[in-house]
Amino acid sequence: MTTINPFENALKKLHEATTILSLSEQEYIKMSTPEAVLKRTVTITMDSGIEQSFDAYRVQFNSALGPYKGGIRFHPHADLDEVKTLAFLMALKCSVVNIPMGGGKGGIQVNPKELSEAELERLSRAWVRIFFKDIGPKKDIPAPDVYTNPQIMLWMTDEYSKLAGKPSPAAFTGKPAEHGGSEGRAFSTAQGGYYSIRELAKKLAMKPEETRVVVQGFGNAGYHIARIMHNAGYQIIGLSDSKGAVVVQRGSFDPEQLHAYKKENGSIQGFVCDNKDCKCDEHSHITNGELLEFETDILVPAALENQITDKNVDRIDTKVIVELANGPTTPEADAILFKKGVVVIPDILANAGGVTVSYFEWVQNLANHYWTLEEVQDKLKNKMQKATNDIWETKNKYNTDMRTSAYIIAIKRIINAIKLKTINVKY
Ligand code: NAD
Repeated sequence: MTTINPFENALKKLHEATTILSLSEQEYIKMSTPEAVLKRTVTITMDSGIEQSFDAYRVQFNSALGPYKGGIRFHPHADLDEVKTLAFLMALKCSVVNIPMGGGKGGIQVNPKELSEAELERLSRAWVRIFFKDIGPKKDIPAPDVYTNPQIMLWMTDEYSKLAGKPSPAAFTGKPAEHGGSEGRAFSTAQGGYYSIRELAKKLAMKPEETRVVVQGFGNAGYHIARIMHNAGYQIIGLSDSKGAVVVQRGSFDPEQLHAYKKENGSIQGFVCDNKDCKCDEHSHITNGELLEFETDILVPAALENQITDKNVDRIDTKVIVELANGPTTPEADAILFKKGVVVIPDILANAGGVTVSYFEWVQNLANHYWTLEEVQDKLKNKMQKATNDIWETKNKYNTDMRTSAYIIAIKRIINAIKLKTINVKY
């Protein structure tokens, strides 16, 4: 079986967009080459007293628009190719929503579930020590990603501040609210995705009460998007987590009920609805694969990458796909969806609410002045509306899909910034 190289997949789309923009070979190289690829080893003392070493990464992709920004993931499969791809996508994501930041990403190859809390703290602090000279509030500002969270960001900020000899809350984002975290950061990805859906719904004349929604994944992104869309009047007809899926033939789930059920039972599997507006006997439990093919108007993949592929794309039965997850659609499936007329809000737009509010957190930390939830949401709404409308116009102008137009917009901004800086300099 040939494995999909995620970086090569991302470069295919870059190539397509740079061809449309008639960029030079040198500009393509600028866009496809990370500025720094750092691979080091972190060593910590385990609770047993034995020392253990882990591979640790930071990739700084492009700083044309501002300091690098991007998460740190702790995952057994984290490797340089994955981190490089995610850093590249972060550079585009920041540019798509027009925030003055470049793209970065980091990680440690580790299964954090096998560590005690004390080991996790030692590992988090050790990551900061080995990358201290490469990061910082004006240089590279990491955030949480898969299996890292506000607590880990707080340990990292504390370690950074000790090494810097001064409080440095702007060194990391995604911190707890008590320590400089922004209002609304916890559900900013879903909130941003919702603002983008709202703009698209206007263009496609979709009314919430007549629009059915299926969400794959019921974690941070999936639960919050289901909750927000339910509150906005959308019909949530299918939801899933890693154990399985539940669908309803008519009516709408109340995501809060499923959330409460999941909290108690560890999964939404076995959930029975007691919502008066829909009939429990019409609920059915299906597999995750079947959920993706369930007839709906909006499908929101909010779990894993590579979920919509050339194997199932012909059976996908939806008008719109909103990629809250990173990379849920393979390039082959993406091309088929475009031909089928399915509108895809690409990950670099759909889930850009997370990095946007991370940027807001950084701004608030630097100013030491904090905004209300309403202020944060208002600013997020403006960013997401503008980006969605710009991408829609570009899509129409070039007669292409939203992903290619998002790449076009992002690349144009970055290349223009480079050109302005290097006006008299030859690469
Ligand atoms: P999470 O760990 O909170 O939730 C993941 C959910 O997916 C869980 O409910 C899990 O049960 C479910 N899941 C796992 N395997 C599944 C499968 N095979 N089928 C259906 N569901 C499955 O993660 P998250 O933070 O919600 O992130 C989800 C996706 O969104 C990831 O791709 C992530 O990169 C992307 N994303 C998240 C954020 C954020 O702020 N949380 C920001 C940008 C992108």
